[in-house]
Amino acid sequence: MKRIYHNINLVERNSFGVRQMASTLVEVESADDLRQLFTEERPTKWYVLGAGNNTLFTKDYDGMLITPVGRGIEILDDDGERVVVRVEAGYDWDELVAWSVEQGLWGIENLSAIPSSVGAAPVQNIGAYGAEAKDAITVVEYFDTNKLEVVRLENKDCSFAYRESVFKHELKGVAIILAVELELHRTAKPNLGYGDVIKEVEARGGATLKNIRDAICAIRASKLPDPKVLGNAGSFFKNPIVGAEVAEALLKEYPEMPKYPVPNSSDKVKLAAGWLIDKAGLKGYRSGSVGVHERQALVLVNHGGATGDDVIRLSKMVCDAVKEKFGVEISPEVNIL
Ligand SMILES: Cc1cc2nc3c(=O)[nH]c(=O)nc-3n(C[C@H](O)[C@H](O)[C@H](O)COP(=O)(O)OP(=O)(O)OC[C@H]3O[C@@H](n4cnc5c(N)ncnc54)[C@H](O)[C@@H]3O)c2cc1C
Repeated sequence: MKRIYHNINLVERNSFGVRQMASTLVEVESADDLRQLFTEERPTKWYVLGAGNNTLFTKDYDGMLITPVGRGIEILDDDGERVVVRVEAGYDWDELVAWSVEQGLWGIENLSAIPSSVGAAPVQNIGAYGAEAKDAITVVEYFDTNKLEVVRLENKDCSFAYRESVFKHELKGVAIILAVELELHRTAKPNLGYGDVIKEVEARGGATLKNIRDAICAIRASKLPDPKVLGNAGSFFKNPIVGAEVAEALLKEYPEMPKYPVPNSSDKVKLAAGWLIDKAGLKGYRSGSVGVHERQALVLVNHGGATGDDVIRLSKMVCDAVKEKFGVEISPEVNIL
């Protein structure tokens, strides 16, 4: 059943740890809860708040926050090799990865320790260490708030791309994801080609599911701040995409600058926002209660007591500094409310 909170403090529901209030927050478990909510209450201003790891509140929220809390997990099909699992949106993503590793199921182990609800995972197609949620997700089941019905969207119709999906565009403000179906496999398929993963896995005795999960958890813990200790939302900025001629000109001045191809585009290049911020001299920068993380310049942190506006002021300063030094615009990846 759904649970309604009024005048709720959001400090425990956003990983930046900012103290904003919401006039209403509704926890929903099922499509029936949502149908009732959108028929009876008809909210005009609403936002789906999962676990709040990619949301920054800059003011009190005067609409309705909707949080899916269903935590069901069910094996739909198992042919001995391929296993199809349906998981509800309120399940914790990393608990799902831990479960798959315990079951001996391959497919999402490289996505260990990403703080997310399962329902948010398809929204930005979470990814890390050479894997993306879209590699395992086969179906996204959502409640359509216009038609008041449940829709099953297949992977090919989700417009998945790097940190992108249809849920950030055409279905933004329409779809509330209730469950995700994933295809996992019993056949080992280690994906170790990214960063220090192979070294860390070998140090643990080879490419078992548990060793890969442990290695990735350890690498992440050594590089990224834990939001429970230091408020943050992971990468605050998107990696900018620039024209090839812009990249060429920058490479003449900074030959060591990292650059990545953009799929299906020969005249565009992706740059590393973290590298640009670092080279603009801002890694470890601190201004009062906010700062740029000392080990990962893409991450903005709340040293304690920061407001959303403090974070926004810092992010504007970082964008301006990168623009001034490199002539490149960077923009936030985080959802700002
Ligand atoms: C320390 C740290 C490390 C991170 N590392 C990574 C990483 O390696 N890779 C990566 O990709 N991301 C990373 N992130 C970002 C974060 O993990 C993802 O964005 C994650 O999906 C957020 O999940 P959430 O439930 O907390 O989302 P929220 O912040 O609650 O919501 C994020 C967005 O999804 C929407 N949404 C949430 N639930 C639903 C739903 N059920 N239906 C429809 N829309 C919904 C929200 O409206 C919002 O637009 C990191 C964040 C942190 C704090």
